[in-house]
Amino acid sequence: MSPLIIEIRCHTVPPRWIFVSVTTDDGLTGWGEAIVPKRKSAVLGAVADLTRGLVGKEAGRIEDHAQAMRKGGFFRRGPIIGTAAASIETALWDLKGKRAGMAVHDMLGGPVRETLRSYCWIGGDKPGDVVAHARERIQAGFDAVKMNATASVPTLGAATAIDELVERMGSLRDAYGMSIDIALDLHGRVPRTVLKQLIREIEPFRPMWIEEATLPEAEDSAAMLARLCPHIPIATGERLLDRWDFKRLMTQGGVDIVQPDVSITGLFELEKIARMAEAFDVAVAPHCPNGPVSLAASLQVGFCCANVSIQEQSLGLHYNKGYANLPAADLLDYLADTAPLGTESGRFARPQGPGLGIEIDAEKVASAETDWSLPDAGWRHEDGTFAEW
Ligand SMILES: [Mg+2]
Repeated sequence: MSPLIIEIRCHTVPPRWIFVSVTTDDGLTGWGEAIVPKRKSAVLGAVADLTRGLVGKEAGRIEDHAQAMRKGGFFRRGPIIGTAAASIETALWDLKGKRAGMAVHDMLGGPVRETLRSYCWIGGDKPGDVVAHARERIQAGFDAVKMNATASVPTLGAATAIDELVERMGSLRDAYGMSIDIALDLHGRVPRTVLKQLIREIEPFRPMWIEEATLPEAEDSAAMLARLCPHIPIATGERLLDRWDFKRLMTQGGVDIVQPDVSITGLFELEKIARMAEAFDVAVAPHCPNGPVSLAASLQVGFCCANVSIQEQSLGLHYNKGYANLPAADLLDYLADTAPLGTESGRFARPQGPGLGIEIDAEKVASAETDWSLPDAGWRHEDGTFAEW
């Protein structure tokens, strides 16, 4: 019998992170991380709801708890339940690993690599001076970056936005040639009317991928996109929940890279999605503009799944620099030892520590806890209609 769960707690800390700790009756604590910060109250409520079914249960029965958290309650699915369940499940893996003295990737088949390539963001929500920002990243050792393609775009008459994107892509290629890979995130903002023109214009710049070129609720969009975009790798999946979502996506064909977010799927589900993607000959680039626990969990999967090709991270991301009047905090700030999440030449080294391979500084987390709330203000088109953010 494994130790019993005695407490599950949420810790809301700057810049906009929700850490979740699970403590067992042998005194160990494991860490997870929930997202969906603009719906923070709902996420905290969902964690509280799930906690009622877990306290007093064996911490080691992870798959059973994951099933109950995701399938119980009759009404199920959705990102709120998803992230609450993911954060707890990840903390249970951290506990299991710490108790066994093993890294989670060692428990899931063992390492398949010693380093894992990473990429950083350049620009912000409203794309700016990307050349200077890319230089900082290159000087820090990275050879892959991602940037937003556009701000909000009207359904018709987006030629200026396309021209601006072409100019930015061109200035990056002029400055750095093909020595860096550049991923373009469309964030579901680009209407299909604009998409077909945009894709043709950016093709010569050979982006590493285009991301979320269509919204996730457009069920048949991957097949449509594959016809529109035959020469640029297509990536998507950060808002999808589980194997069933990814199965639907990959069965359509057309997607080349899936981007599950471990703070939505959970660690074990991310590993299962990656294994399933392998059978579709689809690469995995886990989504992670999140905090350190989410990144550490994602890395554990990356080091045991051969088709994980690159890992996103939030170091220096615009949100971390103080967002919506919230204090700044960056990726490494809550770690007792920053080395496990540091990179060399833009690569993570295989984590050596037990569990998630990081040690959260619990005192620092406790002193940073604050009841932050993000404004819900989104974007609007010129005529006042809702615009995708
Ligand atoms: Mg994205």
